[in-house]
Amino acid sequence: MKAYHVYDKENSGEDACHEIVFAETPAQAKYRSEAYSNGVPWTDIAAIRKPQFDQYAETGEIPRSAYIADGWYFECDRCGSFSAQNEVNGEVICDFCLEERSA
Ligand SMILES: [Zn+2]
Repeated sequence: MKAYHVYDKENSGEDACHEIVFAETPAQAKYRSEAYSNGVPWTDIAAIRKPQFDQYAETGEIPRSAYIADGWYFECDRCGSFSAQNEVNGEVICDFCLEERSA
């Protein structure tokens, strides 16, 4: 199985449904995606190869650190803002909380 970053490239829905989907082909990844099951038109869905996630295909569990390394954002474990990109001792926190923490 190969890893694909699948999302709604037109961002026409409530969110763009960014996710990593494991599949054999881009079409299969799109078919399995959250975007497709949410009714996003097929031609609006992008499936981009992400070889760096292939190693997680077996378990399907991708650590947050791997997403962060690929430039993804998370909800901050401390304040809940959707801009967390720092992993500290198992927590994922935003820049603001990172500064607070070290202050
Ligand atoms: Zn925060």
